[in-house]
Amino acid sequence: MRIARSIFPNVNARISAWAFVIAAAAACLMLVSGIGNGIENSVRDGRDTLRISPASGEIAIVEIDGRSLLELNQWPWPRSHYAKAVAELDRLGAEQIAFDVDFSSHSNQTDDQSLASAFASIDQPVILPTFRQVNQTADGEVYSEALPIPEFREHAFLASVNVFPSADGHITFYPNGVTTSDMPRPSLPNMLAKKAGAVGEFFRIDQAIDVETIPRVSFIDLLEGRVAREDVQGKRFVFGATAIELGDRYPTALFGVKPGVVIQAQAAETLLQDRSRGDLSTGLTLALVFTMIAAALIWASRSNKAWSKPTQLATACAIGLIGTALMLDQASMIYIPLSGSILFLGAFVFMHRTLNAAANLRAERMTDTASGIGNAAAMAGALKRHPTAHIAVARIADFVDVMTVLGTENIAQLDRQIVKRLELLAGDAKVYRIDSGIFGWLVTSGAITDPDNIFASARALFTSPIEVENERFRISANFGWTDTSIEGALHASADARKRDVVWSSNTETIHESAQFRQRLLGELDDALENGSISVVYQPKLRLNDNLISSAECLVRWDSPKLGRISPAEFIPLLETKHRIKELTVFVMGEAMSKLDAACANGFALNIAVNISAQLLSDDDFLDEAESKLKTINNQHDGSITLEITESAPLVDSVKARNAIERLRAAGARISIDDYGTGQATLNYLQDFPAHELKLDQSFIRGMVENRNDRIMVESTLELAHALNFDVVAEGVEDAATLAALRDLGCDYAQGWHIGKPMVWDDFLAMATDKPAMAAVA
Ligand code: C2E
Ligand code: MG
Ligand code: MG
Repeated sequence: MRIARSIFPNVNARISAWAFVIAAAAACLMLVSGIGNGIENSVRDGRDTLRISPASGEIAIVEIDGRSLLELNQWPWPRSHYAKAVAELDRLGAEQIAFDVDFSSHSNQTDDQSLASAFASIDQPVILPTFRQVNQTADGEVYSEALPIPEFREHAFLASVNVFPSADGHITFYPNGVTTSDMPRPSLPNMLAKKAGAVGEFFRIDQAIDVETIPRVSFIDLLEGRVAREDVQGKRFVFGATAIELGDRYPTALFGVKPGVVIQAQAAETLLQDRSRGDLSTGLTLALVFTMIAAALIWASRSNKAWSKPTQLATACAIGLIGTALMLDQASMIYIPLSGSILFLGAFVFMHRTLNAAANLRAERMTDTASGIGNAAAMAGALKRHPTAHIAVARIADFVDVMTVLGTENIAQLDRQIVKRLELLAGDAKVYRIDSGIFGWLVTSGAITDPDNIFASARALFTSPIEVENERFRISANFGWTDTSIEGALHASADARKRDVVWSSNTETIHESAQFRQRLLGELDDALENGSISVVYQPKLRLNDNLISSAECLVRWDSPKLGRISPAEFIPLLETKHRIKELTVFVMGEAMSKLDAACANGFALNIAVNISAQLLSDDDFLDEAESKLKTINNQHDGSITLEITESAPLVDSVKARNAIERLRAAGARISIDDYGTGQATLNYLQDFPAHELKLDQSFIRGMVENRNDRIMVESTLELAHALNFDVVAEGVEDAATLAALRDLGCDYAQGWHIGKPMVWDDFLAMATDKPAMAAVA
């Protein structure tokens, strides 16, 4: 994750922005399409269950219930029954009497008269219903008003009882007033609650008012005087049908299907308790939430915070929103719709996670899994974005050896350490790992396009050893510099390596050389068979008796097609391509057959073969070498020396050490080649199972002129002898050097002054020609 972020520094900002836009679009779509309404209604019902509260008890119902119908055994009832009931309610002290019963047509005159008289005799005028009816005529819809008969109207207030159920049959809103026959009428709930209400306005019925707590008396009980005064006094009554057989029933949000009169009473209670409330629109709520989240994201990006924590941000926002909404619910204040906003926040988190996962996947593809460093694909991607950039490539020398010693599991650590150093050169640019031991970066700033400047401090970068797993490595790098392609920069770095310069921008010759290498590899097998690869022998002079007692095998490749090729060129190539084993086995075979023949003629010689460090972890090679060594040592003990290039990791590595022990046990002398170029000090070597140190040419060549080199040679000799190592000086090019070495007590000397690498017969002649040796000495 962290790595992904370091590769794409702005990725979080981009992901958050995209997640926001997509989630906001989804929420807006939901809003516009109305899909969310159903969800919001369910949410509203759920929230209402949390705020269910009882009715005030001031508004009560006279139920025209099933029992009354049964006992009175006649329907419609004679209006004299209503007259009696009205009189009884009045006697018991009812404050107000209303009817949700249709009196728009006459019954018989006596009964109508008796009810009219009952209405006339009570103090507070009765409230009677009017409702607007729609009649379909030839001219279309015509509205007519159903009014109570005139006899009743004289003593009554008229109230509208029109309801407007929604598509699902719920009565959610109730009109404050309705115009019927050009007459504006307040609604029945408004009149019962004694609230003024304008025509055309609606109020929302509070579904959380518990309709079961609205007091009810049965019509028949009232008629037969069974209702107590305390159940009536001071209350406002509305007559209405509750018997199932009379129909007029509507679904309610929380209490199931209820008679129309109960809903009238619930609506009246809503007004009485002042619990009707408006909604904050979903659009406005969403706009608020959008603003909050956007502001938080912008703030976070500016202050470099919370970009990575959209879940927390959205959760905090959701909690705040829900908390506020529920608090306002409890106070029966404005209703805040939640579904749109919660959907938005959920979608935001979901999208953020999805996009983040996708980005991480992408970053993983662009990352070297072990080290977490951006890989070649990432660098190529960066180059696409900055096509004018210069490309710098660092090629670490002898990386294969280091890898062999360190083991793949620790290479990632080394990679990271190398990147850290290269970052000092790269400045702000990101350093990528192009391949093992090859790193690169882009120089986009126009100001520093002078590679001399950039690489001026390059050598110094690696002067101090790199430490991994308590092992110290001294490494060096050559650099490639070009503005063409990564491949070009790779070639240039190889050119720099080949010519041993800090940097190169020569991409072309290397291009040829890349093909050349491919051809070389292709020719290897044939070359080993047809003799283009051969071995030459460089004599070593034993200084205590001036005898040529040994030689080093050095391979030569004279390709009929490619010409003479230097081992400095093809040995590293074979190592990288893991073909060095074939070559080494060949050289060992050659050396041993020559040795065998010489020994048969009575010479006691020692032959040295170079062994690449990577072979020490190659079990096949070790088996083969071991068996070869055992065969030859049966006849000529101690006649093979194996030269292994010095390096501290080699000395520290348990595996390499085991391999060396094994070869030693099979009879090989072990020599540490190029001593002084790595960082293995003699302390390291104290108990290393070697017989010999080969002091590197770089010290020998300068030792006559350079005091430091001489001191180095001198002190090494002293210590090496104390540790029982023989010492060979390489690169002895003149008599003065040879004399100096002799003075210092060096054991063997090798170099052009003694003899250049030569064919076996020449070497044999030299080894047996003692006078010639005397001349050299
Ligand atoms: P090395 O093992 O350090 O071999 C010594 C190198 O120094 C040889 O280079 C030799 O020709 C050169 N040399 C000897 N005396 C002098 C001198 O007086 N002055 C100068 N300037 N150079 C001198 P060469 O033959 O080019 O080999 C280079 C390297 O290639 C060797 O360095 C060795 O590491 C590697 N090599 C050669 N043959 C083999 C082989 O069979 N197997 C493996 N693994 N590596 C080999
Ligand atoms: Mg050597
Ligand atoms: Mg050497």
